[in-house]
Amino acid sequence: MTTSPHVAADAFAARYDRSPDGVWQGPGRVNLIGEHTDYNDGFVFPFAIDRNTVVAVGARDDRSVRMSSDFADAPATVSLDDLDVDELAAGTLEGWSAYPFGVIWALRHFGADLSTVPGFDAHVSSDVPAGAGLSSSAALMCAVAVALNDEWQLGFDAPTLARVGQLAENKAVGAPTGIMDESASLFGRRDHGVFLDCRSLDTEVIELGFEDAGLELLVMNTRVDHAHATGGYAERRASCEKGARLMGVASLRDLDIDDLTRAERELDDETFRRVRHIVTENQRVLDTVRTLRTEGPRAIGDLLDASHVSMRDDFEISVPELDLAVETAQKCGAVGARMTGGGFGGAAIALVAHDRIDETKDAVEAAFAKAGFRAPDCFTVHPADAAGRAL
Ligand code: ADP
Ligand code: MG
Repeated sequence: MTTSPHVAADAFAARYDRSPDGVWQGPGRVNLIGEHTDYNDGFVFPFAIDRNTVVAVGARDDRSVRMSSDFADAPATVSLDDLDVDELAAGTLEGWSAYPFGVIWALRHFGADLSTVPGFDAHVSSDVPAGAGLSSSAALMCAVAVALNDEWQLGFDAPTLARVGQLAENKAVGAPTGIMDESASLFGRRDHGVFLDCRSLDTEVIELGFEDAGLELLVMNTRVDHAHATGGYAERRASCEKGARLMGVASLRDLDIDDLTRAERELDDETFRRVRHIVTENQRVLDTVRTLRTEGPRAIGDLLDASHVSMRDDFEISVPELDLAVETAQKCGAVGARMTGGGFGGAAIALVAHDRIDETKDAVEAAFAKAGFRAPDCFTVHPADAAGRAL
């Protein structure tokens, strides 16, 4: 299932009373494994999904930008001259438009000459749910970044566009995100995952083989709101920094399993368990990539399951709804299951045989009803192609 590029083109025509010059799309992503490892210079292994944010763009003959979304009633507007600056003045960007307008500013930061480019009108349509752990923000960033890269003929490559998206999230929106989400959206490929080293920024596209093995990925959105910037996320980052400092390394990436004995001796219990999650999770990402190559996707289940236990017990970022979704999927015979994303809510994922998807969905819904939890939103996603031009 994917938002058709024609939906955005038609909405553009209705809003702006003309046809767009082109339509571009950026996929959301699911992180298969590698949680909270990104800001520890470690490894992550997400894939782009077959849900997209689509942006239709048409040039204007002045320097204004007007941007509308199915999300918002009135278009947001800005002048390119206000974005052609080193620092963003307070109040220049607010609301959802901080995301796309932030991309324009960040393109300039990475060397684009905006002094003569024309303004544009744009309309955004999307079937990536916001705040569900599927990175609707990166889908939007990447759709806009590839669109403007083409429209203005800037010639940036995908690694640079990933950094543009990240910088826009960090500086224009103020969300302390890593490079993972944009990388998945810009490097994804059908039935492949994006193995990313967050220190070197090396990316490798690895075959998942879900299609041949008859497997699908079931997303179980608990609809428990995860508020990233607050509390837990910042605390976990601080614990990781503390662990690295006390262990005398630049980041937790520099520790491996053998160092855990010393870590247990030298760190307080809580910091030790935070460190153990990161160290073992990095190893699980490497093991997942190796196992996919040697044995195929049916053999990665134990790694997914172990990742969940580590997040639940050591990193302590799960919630009862996520645990229940994972346990129920496992009882239904899932290959493996884990919570995904930053934690404290959001979604869990399960790798499930095609013919057991309906049964697993029904069981998760029934278990949530029995526990008195809000009804979850369960749907399948498939590893899909990267951001690019759609029309
Ligand atoms: P996620 O986990 O989905 O990335 P974020 O909080 O990082 O959650 O980003 C969600 C925000 O991104 C929304 O609140 C909105 O501001 C913006 N956004 C995402 N998709 C769209 C869209 N299609 N139209 C307008 N704004 C969007
Ligand atoms: Mg996001």
